[in-house]
Amino acid sequence: MSISQTEFVVAPAPVVSVAVRGSVARYPVHRVYCVGRNYTEHAREMGHDPDRELPFFFQKNPDNLVLDNGDFPYPPMTNNVHHEVEMVVAIGKGGSDIPVEKALDHVYGYALGLDMTRRDLQNEAKKTGRPWELGKAFEHSAPMTDIVTVDKAGHLAKGTIWLKVNGEVKQQGDLDELIWNVPEIIAHLSTIFELKAGDLIMTGTPGGVGAVKRGDVMEGYCEGIGSITAKVV
Ligand code: MN
Repeated sequence: MSISQTEFVVAPAPVVSVAVRGSVARYPVHRVYCVGRNYTEHAREMGHDPDRELPFFFQKNPDNLVLDNGDFPYPPMTNNVHHEVEMVVAIGKGGSDIPVEKALDHVYGYALGLDMTRRDLQNEAKKTGRPWELGKAFEHSAPMTDIVTVDKAGHLAKGTIWLKVNGEVKQQGDLDELIWNVPEIIAHLSTIFELKAGDLIMTGTPGGVGAVKRGDVMEGYCEGIGSITAKVV
């Protein structure tokens, strides 16, 4: 019996997929990994020494994505929701123990995303030694653009990245300031998990994170990708 003929006891969740610029075919999402503290300024503002400790990771859920410049609904259980603008790597070919010098062969393309964070719940989790999901992996916590393919745009290693709230610049950085660059992130992550085609990696945020409130309009931009807009509703 093929999968399409399988009977499920409840309706299975639909495959989450992201538009690919210049294509009608879509990119199916497997997992969403996020790198913590990958810009010096942001590490400092979070109260950490920006020394080059090994990168660490957390995850969001594929169905946390908000696509097509959709609104960001203010989430429950928080009074302190922060914006974090981040370049996103889309993996096109999986693997384990991928060497740094081969890592870019595994990249399908790039996107721009917002790692929205319930900072109060994340801070509580840090204090109590609990996991970060409550702060990071909530509904609608990952607004994201379509994917720009490596075929069309090459690899992104430098270029400005910023986020404005209501037209005012809040975060600003350059991709060349990543403490761990894209090949290093992929190489390290692939020693911990088996990467698969469809995995997205949010690469960390520059300094200047801060709270948003209902009615705010967030506009992010990254050279080589373009912009994302999300209104807080
Ligand atoms: Mn982040």
